[in-house]
Amino acid sequence: MPKSYPRIVTPLPGPNARAIVDRDKAVTAPCYIKEYPLVIARGEGPMVEDVDGNRFLDFMAGIAVSATGYGHPAVVKAVKDAADRFLHICGSDFYFEGMAALCERLARIMPGDGKKRVFLTNSGTEAIEGAMKLARHATGRTDFIAFKGAFHGRTYGALSMTSSKARQHGGFGPFLPGVHHVAFGSCYRCEFDKTFPSCGLFCVSHIERDLFARHLDPRDVAAVFVEPIQGEGGYVVPPPGWLKAIRDLCDKYGIVLVLDEVQSGIGRTGKMFACEHEDVVPDILVTAKGLGSGMPIGAIVARDAVSTWETGSHGSTFGGNPVCCAAALATLDLVEGGLMANARVRGEQLTRGLQTLAQRHGVIGDIRGRGLMQGVEFVTDRTTRAPAVDLVHRLEQAAFHKGLLLLAAGKNALRFAPPLVVDAEDVEIALGILGECLDELD
Ligand SMILES: *Cc1c(COP(=O)(O)O)cnc(C)c1O
Repeated sequence: MPKSYPRIVTPLPGPNARAIVDRDKAVTAPCYIKEYPLVIARGEGPMVEDVDGNRFLDFMAGIAVSATGYGHPAVVKAVKDAADRFLHICGSDFYFEGMAALCERLARIMPGDGKKRVFLTNSGTEAIEGAMKLARHATGRTDFIAFKGAFHGRTYGALSMTSSKARQHGGFGPFLPGVHHVAFGSCYRCEFDKTFPSCGLFCVSHIERDLFARHLDPRDVAAVFVEPIQGEGGYVVPPPGWLKAIRDLCDKYGIVLVLDEVQSGIGRTGKMFACEHEDVVPDILVTAKGLGSGMPIGAIVARDAVSTWETGSHGSTFGGNPVCCAAALATLDLVEGGLMANARVRGEQLTRGLQTLAQRHGVIGDIRGRGLMQGVEFVTDRTTRAPAVDLVHRLEQAAFHKGLLLLAAGKNALRFAPPLVVDAEDVEIALGILGECLDELD
């Protein structure tokens, strides 16, 4: 059967969309970004239909959240069934089966042997905050190391570690003291102008040589927070062995390693967690985004030895809401039951297609990612690697007008993060539209 999407039937935004955009703009906080005037009415699989009947193929999944698509029947059923029973009880104070089941499940899928302990939250940033508190509590130490280009969230602790865009900090300071930013393993734009592998992972040894030697006693460092693949920072994949070297550094100094898998987790990269590609086991793993297929839920999964917080020291009124727990359990069933494998295969197809486009278009500077978490960095010139910032914005808009939903990442990258349910034809359609946009704009 031919696909019923993309299908653009009105100028964009259409009349119904324009009316809602106008109402929205009049009352919503001006800090919202609103990438383009998409006004969703309903969705199915990787298809989004707007209020004027235009249909889009979605390759951004509401920022890598709609892992199972827009309303997978199994997830919707789980949500409805849970809602029929009770909407809330507060898992910090009382018990219900869904919470125990989800925590069992998360403890099992977190890499590494041994007992683990799970705390459920409403969001990624809340999970990061909790992980920061836990790392301090477990170590009795104060400081944190995070990476340039990192995104960990928008509340004060998480924001203090975020370093993807200055706009996110402007006018909001002061931030948490004791957060130190070091270079991420970004080979395409190495801060030290070195080349992998001859660099010998210079950026990691530099932490000891520079930060630990001059400014910061490693015995004061509670945790290193790291995204195994940087998300908002541009879908940057560090070189092989980099994450392991960070793990070793943490072990050497008794520092807790926290992996922020809020965006890279839950099957998106073709494995349950991105750290599994590098065989690295964290002390604390934080996840959220895709976990609930869009229902707000996040988790802090910690090794038992690190999970030192005693009764009453931390809590959350809504964290682990019963309807969200049901959505997460249904999501994990689907991810383990085939979507993770699909992400791997479709991801390979996507990479090949992007590489073919790169042969025709010199503005494609770098293609990187794993599974269905892929980024393309655009440059004005492959030799100088000068960022093509404007082009990314124009490509995003042009793709929208052709019925493909994309989202920028970092300064000059586009991310490809579709729902994990996309099939081979969806990937070809997306590549075809991207190719058309490049033909017109490049
Ligand atoms: C989105 C994101 C967060 C923050 O999650 P929210 O649910 O938006 O608070 C934290 N870390 C990473 C890697 C993210 O992508």
